[in-house]
Amino acid sequence: MICTNCSSSNFRLSRFRWRDLERLALLQYPIRCRNCHERTYGGVMLALYLAQSRRARRRKRTAASK
Ligand SMILES: [Zn+2]
Repeated sequence: MICTNCSSSNFRLSRFRWRDLERLALLQYPIRCRNCHERTYGGVMLALYLAQSRRARRRKRTAASK
C-alpha cells in the first residue's frame, strides 16, 4: 500500500465521516498520507495495524509522563 500522490507508505488513520460508510462496506477505511496529507482508502487490515501502532505510542507516552 503506497500513496498514489507521493509513493510514500507512511499513513495514519483519517477522521471517519458518514460518507465513508459505503467504503467501509467494501472493507476500506479512510487513511491519510503522513508525507503529503493526501486522503485515500486502505484495507481494514491496514487500518487495524495503524490503530494498534497509534495505541502503542499513546501507551508509551503515558508511561513516560509518570
Ligand atoms: Zn502521499
